[in-house]
Amino acid sequence: MEGGGLLMNDVIIIGGGIAGLSAAIHCRQRGLMVTVLERGAYPAHKICGEFLSPECLPMLAAWGVIPSIAITTVQLYARHAALTLPLPLPAGSMSRYVLDASLAEVARQSGVTLHTNAQVDAVTHDAQHNIYDVTLADGSVMRASSLVIGAGRVAQLLLPRGATKAVRPDPSTHRAPSGWSERLRTVRPDGGAAGLQPRVSRGPNGGGRRFEWRGTNGQQYVGIKAHFSAGSFPLDSVQFFITDVGYLGISAVDATTVNVAALLSASFVHSYNNTDDAIDAFISQPIMNRMRDYVQKEHCLFPQWLTCQVPAFGMRSYPVLKNIYYIGDAAGSIPPATGDGLALGLLTGAMVAPYVAAHDAQGFAHAWRQQFSSVFKNGMALHRLYQYPAITALALRAAGCVPALSRAVFLKTRDTL
Ligand SMILES: Cc1cc2nc3c(=O)[nH]c(=O)nc-3n(C[C@H](O)[C@H](O)[C@H](O)COP(=O)(O)OP(=O)(O)OC[C@H]3O[C@@H](n4cnc5c(N)ncnc54)[C@H](O)[C@@H]3O)c2cc1C
Repeated sequence: MEGGGLLMNDVIIIGGGIAGLSAAIHCRQRGLMVTVLERGAYPAHKICGEFLSPECLPMLAAWGVIPSIAITTVQLYARHAALTLPLPLPAGSMSRYVLDASLAEVARQSGVTLHTNAQVDAVTHDAQHNIYDVTLADGSVMRASSLVIGAGRVAQLLLPRGATKAVRPDPSTHRAPSGWSERLRTVRPDGGAAGLQPRVSRGPNGGGRRFEWRGTNGQQYVGIKAHFSAGSFPLDSVQFFITDVGYLGISAVDATTVNVAALLSASFVHSYNNTDDAIDAFISQPIMNRMRDYVQKEHCLFPQWLTCQVPAFGMRSYPVLKNIYYIGDAAGSIPPATGDGLALGLLTGAMVAPYVAAHDAQGFAHAWRQQFSSVFKNGMALHRLYQYPAITALALRAAGCVPALSRAVFLKTRDTL
């Protein structure tokens, strides 16, 4: 279809992450003409624990994407407590480097037009003709009648709240998408662009520094990730360490590689001169003794840790705009404590397709909230619990005595299991 000289897509999907690619494949299966605009390229590493919750594995299997590793147990550590949680169903683990590229290939083969190195800079809406013009960083413009926003945690910066007709990013915030980007970067000790300030209070033993786990400037965290050679790491389990200043997960992503990913309090990180020092201090905590062997520098497969800033978690509220749909982390980001963000991305990508075909953005926004609000509520509660390792340790001991409890928590933080 042509519109004013520009090729008219049925739908443009901004962001070719897990959610955007899932939406693209599902929209294409409904016969829609789909273009995905991804500012990065494939393959690429992304900051993620790379744990694939059981409920999304059937969807991946239908596309021939099989996780390299099956996870059957989660081991949780907090203070002196430990809990081994056998999973009700096997989960998966797979590097995002492979996963995103595999889904991109499935999308291409199903007829999706996928542009990489295509950063969206602006969106304008012609309400009269119901057309969205999407302007890329290179100045080119693409046109569609519907937009799916799968741009991850940064998405709110693309379409300012309250926008109704012409939607253009606020120039003062628009630098932020690249500011949040997951590339090798050093977080400035003064908090850099995010303006974070360390909040230091009395230490647990009356002296020293105690870092506010909640971060500053709203809930903000620093995500880190690196791959290491696996050595003798057990392939079928995730180990999860909960500390005063953040939590860390470690699991194999293939037979020879383990992924270590963590969410650290921003105030803790920014109190060090550089991110590497903060990470060293984080990993030097006694509780990490069990996994320190795996994160010795000589085993690291990356030149340095990947780091990114992570804004607040939770469901987001947007004005319901005509034919605009938010999916994955753009709709709401669930704390990594649950290990369910990838599954939610894949599931919301599937869920959105019939609504896009029916031009029913309002229906989708309503259905999404209804389906996932309890998952978010429970995920946020688990994340808050982890901010208090002493209480978490008590909970782990209680769950050790009542195995049904930990199983219930696992099930309540995900959909459709
Ligand atoms: C430390 C940490 C650990 C985690 N561990 C896990 C885990 O183990 N298991 C799990 O299930 N979840 C985990 N998560 C959450 C999970 O990573 C996210 O929920 C998931 O990546 C969301 O997918 P998405 O497609 O919505 O967003 P993303 O994967 O972030 O994809 C968004 C895409 O949009 C692109 N984009 C952004 N802006 C633009 C633009 N302007 N123009 C074009 N493209 C753009 C980006 O380049 C990106 O490729 C973790 C998160 C963190 C921070």
